[in-house]
Amino acid sequence: MTARQTDIVIIGGGLGGLTLAALLGQAGLVIAVVDPHKPAPFKKTENTGRTVALMQASVNILKSTGIWKSLEPLSTPMEMMRIIDDSDARKEPIEIEFPASDIGMEQFSYNIPNGHLRAALYERIEKLKNVNFIESTFSDYAVDGGGIVVNLEDGATIKARLLVGADGRNSAVREFSGIQSTVKKYDQSAITCLINHSRSHNNTSTEFHRMNGPMALVPLPGNQSSVVWVEKTKTADALTRLKKQEFQQALQDKTNNVLGGITLEHGPECWPLCTIKAKAITAQRVALIAEAAHVMSPITAQGLNLSLRDVATLAESIIDAARLGVDIGSGNVLKAYEKRRHIDIETRVFGVDTMNKIVSTDLLGLKRLRRAGLKSLDTLSPLKTLAMQIGLAPQIDESRLAKGEKL
Ligand SMILES: Cc1cc2nc3c(=O)[nH]c(=O)nc-3n(C[C@H](O)[C@H](O)[C@H](O)COP(=O)(O)OP(=O)(O)OC[C@H]3O[C@@H](n4cnc5c(N)ncnc54)[C@H](O)[C@@H]3O)c2cc1C
Repeated sequence: MTARQTDIVIIGGGLGGLTLAALLGQAGLVIAVVDPHKPAPFKKTENTGRTVALMQASVNILKSTGIWKSLEPLSTPMEMMRIIDDSDARKEPIEIEFPASDIGMEQFSYNIPNGHLRAALYERIEKLKNVNFIESTFSDYAVDGGGIVVNLEDGATIKARLLVGADGRNSAVREFSGIQSTVKKYDQSAITCLINHSRSHNNTSTEFHRMNGPMALVPLPGNQSSVVWVEKTKTADALTRLKKQEFQQALQDKTNNVLGGITLEHGPECWPLCTIKAKAITAQRVALIAEAAHVMSPITAQGLNLSLRDVATLAESIIDAARLGVDIGSGNVLKAYEKRRHIDIETRVFGVDTMNKIVSTDLLGLKRLRRAGLKSLDTLSPLKTLAMQIGLAPQIDESRLAKGEKL
């Protein structure tokens, strides 16, 4: 079999890999995306309840791929965040609301079904003649002089100047390249599902802080919301095995009626939670992006937002090198990418892990601290504003795409 010649091979056609393929393909580079699973067509995509809340930087990045127009009607702006702490049965629940307008924004983020986002990205790359989606699985690679030769499990071979590992949390590219990672398993799983409800959500995302883990009700168009319900793994497994009516009732009991009567539209599905951080995000002629580089608890809805910032910075590093006639897979280009992403990845992964401990704790001291913190945020307006701004603070050395500029 003769080897296909490309500029870049991307292993993994999930949300990270497809966004990178669209950005680099638009700039004229020859790209192969390898993934055993092709997305369903956009019009036939079902909302399963697995959604992502995308902040403005992520929306800016997606806008530059041209897919935002078809996604916007399926998304919901989150104009208000409501936090209810009812972790202490002996005390009244604490309820606090943060409007986006307090920090001069119309919305904190947009909630979008994952399936529709992936299908829209796939449709975009299908229109680019220089981007090919190959339904196959990564096997191994060899660095060869000024390039890299990538072997697939079906026996096909692809030559490139750069290999990108976008193959998710169990990244085979990360493993084959010898990049070590730290793994922290939580005894927690997230149950996700899609619900209909009798009351309007008023574009408000509601988060309950409870002993075994938080639960978020995230708005979707109409009277629908996606649910992310974190529980100890044993409890989560047992809940997902319940009959539909029983699961629906369990959910109704947990939501304090904030959305009125609930009916289950899709799911539930269960996702074991962990933190994974690659000790490096580059190796010779290899770059890692998204969950191949870092996995976090979904608690603060940061995972894909962080991943899209990897994508935008890598795209910028590659395009700038190509414009200058520099080898796009060279050590200098990869070093620059690694350096620019270091602080953002380190602080987010650490911050989300700490946040997960605080919101899931049943340690009395931490629980009291969390409740006291929430109370003071409600009364001290500047503090509340600051807390929201930290969550949305712009990044150091942010990419042009994240800022809404051209590549
Ligand atoms: C319950 C839950 C809720 C979340 N909510 C949010 C949120 O609100 N906001 C947010 O920003 N993030 C959120 N996240 C995180 C976000 O969903 C992930 O960061 C994102 O989907 C990961 O995208 P990815 O492209 O890295 O990986 P994936 O989507 O896992 O894609 C990896 C792809 O690689 C392919 N692949 C794997 N191995 C190989 C191989 N050997 N060869 C070829 N292909 C391969 C797979 O088939 C897959 O298509 C949430 C996560 C969870 C679990």
